[in-house]
Amino acid sequence: MRGPADIERFGVVGAGRMGAGIAQVAAMEGFEVVMRDVEQAFLDDGFERIEESLDRLVDRDAISESEAEATRDRITGTLELEDLADCDIVVEAAVENMEIKQDVFADLDDLTDEDVMLATNTSTLSVTSIASATDAPDRVVGLHFMNPVPVMEGVEVVIGERTSVGTRQAAYDVAEALGKTTWESDDKPGFVVNRILMPWINEGIRAFDEGVGTKEDIDQGMKLGTNVPMGPLELADHIGLDVCLHASETLHEELGDRYKPAYLLKRKVEAGHLGKKSGQGFYEYD
Ligand code: NAD
Repeated sequence: MRGPADIERFGVVGAGRMGAGIAQVAAMEGFEVVMRDVEQAFLDDGFERIEESLDRLVDRDAISESEAEATRDRITGTLELEDLADCDIVVEAAVENMEIKQDVFADLDDLTDEDVMLATNTSTLSVTSIASATDAPDRVVGLHFMNPVPVMEGVEVVIGERTSVGTRQAAYDVAEALGKTTWESDDKPGFVVNRILMPWINEGIRAFDEGVGTKEDIDQGMKLGTNVPMGPLELADHIGLDVCLHASETLHEELGDRYKPAYLLKRKVEAGHLGKKSGQGFYEYD
């Protein structure tokens, strides 16, 4: 399995929040990145996100203007999956939909060399099921980056039923080459982080809905009471309420009633109040 030393071209599928972040971090580490999405407008949004993130890093003196420039120059956008054919690794960060991910992996399996790692950034879907769409499930692994990718240090390495020892090792090596710190999860619903995080968020929403405290009190209580940087309602807004609902529904389906999404979470999403990204969630944003 090709590891960091063999990687020149780094493929990313999806130019959304996560795909653009992964592309940026890979380019900052010197890899030539090819980022694929299905419409030019989505690619444009991805490049805009990268631009804004690089500007913030330059403003904070975290990188120089010339490093930002070099990073931009290393990322190419494409609408053709075929352009990922000669990549030495591909990380998929398309929408959280099993059918779409399986189609992407089946195509990548045909297009790429057999010693190329195919990684998925899925938050809640089974890596083993995604890999089952390929003829080489041994080269499929989960590389679950955290949002926002350029800021968050952690990457969850998710081992599918048929992920090979070589792919597992290469996944650790690639994460490290991207400056990340890892932990491992078996391919079980929600992996480590979302399995524990989603019930915490839903309990915060229920506590708010049932009048245990104001949203500010609940967030403040959890921040100062347990030493976390954000309370459950603020964090849900930050992640996106639709993303939280989707993850909670998947966990509920797989693991039963203790994962049932909070009623108020569903109502907010139905109202189009998706959190920070829509300007309103539990809090209002400019
Ligand atoms: P997003 O909606 O911002 O971006 C997804 C992108 O994928 C869109 O631009 C869409 O056009 C594109 N896309 C859809 N089908 C495609 C295809 N066939 N080929 C290429 N691109 C395609 O979503 P996101 O938040 O970036 O999430 C992407 C993945 O990362 C999901 O699997 C999600 O569960 C996971 N994830 C998200 C977060 C988070 O906090 N947002 C955190 C960790 C992991």
